Amino acid sequence: MALLINEDCISCGVCEAECPNDAISEGDSIFVIDPDRCTECVGFHDEPQCIDVCPVECIVPDPEHEETKDQLLEKKKKLHGE
Ligand code: SF4
Ligand code: SF4
Repeated sequence: MALLINEDCISCGVCEAECPNDAISEGDSIFVIDPDRCTECVGFHDEPQCIDVCPVECIVPDPEHEETKDQLLEKKKKLHGE
């Protein structure tokens, strides 16, 4: 499933550069993840890179965007054409 950034985000911006899918951007008050681009890093890394670098642990699974690993891999292929 895609991940989401909750209200604990301190807008440090560290996660944005780590995303292989350009899924993270600065929102109105906190950073946001585009669920159409987040693959939980499937196809690139074993672990979500944004969670690894976030200093306040505010990135969590998005229950409204549940997806299997196969669906995430399919999304990755659509985004990157491979
Ligand atoms: S889990 Fe990976 S793909 Fe999803 S927002 Fe974080 S860094 Fe990007
Ligand atoms: S690393 Fe964490 S605190 Fe920093 S912008 Fe990303 S989600 Fe927010």
